Amino acid sequence: MKTILITGGSRGIGRETALLCAKRGWSVGINYVGNQKAAEETAEMVRAAGGRAITVKGDVAAEADVFAMFERTEREFGWISGVVINAGIVAPGLPLAEMSLERLRRVFEVNVLGAYLCAGESARRLARDRGGKGGSVVLLSSAAARLGAPFEYVDYAGSKGAPDTLTIGLAKELAPQGVRVNAVRPGLIETDIHASGGQPDRAQRIGATTPMGRPGHASEVAEAIIWLLSDAASYTTGALLDVAGGR
Ligand code: NAP
Repeated sequence: MKTILITGGSRGIGRETALLCAKRGWSVGINYVGNQKAAEETAEMVRAAGGRAITVKGDVAAEADVFAMFERTEREFGWISGVVINAGIVAPGLPLAEMSLERLRRVFEVNVLGAYLCAGESARRLARDRGGKGGSVVLLSSAAARLGAPFEYVDYAGSKGAPDTLTIGLAKELAPQGVRVNAVRPGLIETDIHASGGQPDRAQRIGATTPMGRPGHASEVAEAIIWLLSDAASYTTGALLDVAGGR
């Protein structure tokens, strides 16, 4: 039985990951930032599927919130052996020349600072030389990190380049401490994130032009995350795994 903390675990890829954890009988801390209803729904779905779940409200860009979400999950279910650093945002699609400082700040705060804060807390809790028992950390990057997302999300694309680099460095820091660190880079996946960027049909529309001719389902990304969390991936660390239908 493992305990897994999933940031942004309430919807989309995070929810599907929580459900696959449940099928393995794992316990899940489901973090969210605002949509309590979706978080409670996910927790109910996890319990119905045979897992244990709590919901933890908190902003990944706030250090005290990050500490509290780890603390609460460990208090409830015991030591955390897996962390999915999944919470992420986009802002409405624009060319860089039209992006405001406020927008840039928030995208980088959540996607970059949030990822670094959560990865730092994971290191403090999981690393054997700090009293931890080892484990696995999976970061959600994006195919945008290598494609650049021109005219819509170059800020977001850059904010996903940082977690790729973090994965490579932290994997080397933590390998001797029994902690594997990997990233999954999804392509166009059907979730609410596209509507939040003002393009609800984006995954369908652009997905149709990709080699597989369709967008991905969040569960197809969750399968890759679960593999990286599991002992089946015992020799995989520092990997950037594209789950992007060949895009
Ligand atoms: P989503 O459906 O929009 O869900 C986002 C989740 O993150 C929600 O649970 C949301 O909580 C939470 N969240 C947002 N800001 C947060 C914050 N500051 N602190 C804590 N939680 C926060 O997103 P998704 O499509 O599943 O994306 C998940 C990850 O995959 C993201 O990192 C995204 O960049 C990456 N990704 C997605 C795609 C895609 O096509 N969908 C492609 C490449 C990469 P609330 O419900 O409370 O708002």
